[in-house]
Amino acid sequence: MHETPRTYSPVAVCRAIANGELVNYYQPKVDVVTGAWHGVETLVRWRHPNDGLVFPDQFIGVAENHGLIDDLTRVVLVEALAQARRWHDSGLALRVAVNVSMSNLIQLDFADFVLDQLLQSGVAAQDLILEVTESRLMTDLRTPLDILTRLRLKHISLSIDDFGTGHSSLSQLRDIAFNELKIDRGFVHNASQDKTKYAIFTASLGIARQFAMKTVAEGVEDRADWEFLRQQDCDLAQGYFVAKAMPAADLPLWLAEWTARCAAGLDAKTPV
Ligand code: C2E
Ligand code: MG
Ligand code: MG
Repeated sequence: MHETPRTYSPVAVCRAIANGELVNYYQPKVDVVTGAWHGVETLVRWRHPNDGLVFPDQFIGVAENHGLIDDLTRVVLVEALAQARRWHDSGLALRVAVNVSMSNLIQLDFADFVLDQLLQSGVAAQDLILEVTESRLMTDLRTPLDILTRLRLKHISLSIDDFGTGHSSLSQLRDIAFNELKIDRGFVHNASQDKTKYAIFTASLGIARQFAMKTVAEGVEDRADWEFLRQQDCDLAQGYFVAKAMPAADLPLWLAEWTARCAAGLDAKTPV
């Protein structure tokens, strides 16, 4: 038996993209007050012929550093939009989020590509959310800002991912009207018990409110986290307490189970 490598070579990642070995998984985002299914985040996986399911931390960095992230993002986005269209056609009004790397935002044609794909898929701009993380140190932010501003003007929603970590900083807020702020899971799970997490979580919520952004808490792992979000008036929850990321085909079964869980008391409002 051979050990799964921690990261892969650029050649291997390039081949995976070309061979269609990347697949989209989707993790539900739900309303903290009603439990209603609001949307999904697209999370890419690699169905490796030998190593099984490979997680993005083992290949996204390689793609970013070797000029492959554009092809990767395009494959993920095209499939996510096709899936969004299927959901829409089946009567599910879901908003679909796709992760975008800062390296995508230095390609001038990126906005055109996204807008073309939206048009071709027939998905409404309002139903697409792009999650942005500053994954590499950028000195010149002019091109990313131009691209994001253009997408925003076309009514695509923008989300700041991993807020609170060194990767996502307040400087992003100054220049762009983001619609959503995702509080990093490092400040969510157990925030009710941990003073530092509590402080960062509540400060992040305050910032989001001042900028009229929706708040999403990542890494909601247990009932205590869920109750904490309700107390804090966070808008949306994402995390293992609700569901792990899964193939699109598994979502109907998850929805049936989640609806039953909500009906069985998860959804009960805490009496005032
Ligand atoms: P992210 O965008 O912050 O996504 C959330 C990550 O947290 C996902 O990891 C998700 O599976 C994990 N997660 C969700 N709920 C919980 C929870 O309750 N507890 C814990 N411990 N973890 C939870 P994943 O899928 O391994 O993705 C890691 C990162 O890879 C993502 O972080 C994102 O930055 C990046 N990524 C994933 N797909 C893409 C993509 O298509 N393009 C780009 N550029 N980056 C991607
Ligand atoms: Mg994300
Ligand atoms: Mg995140």
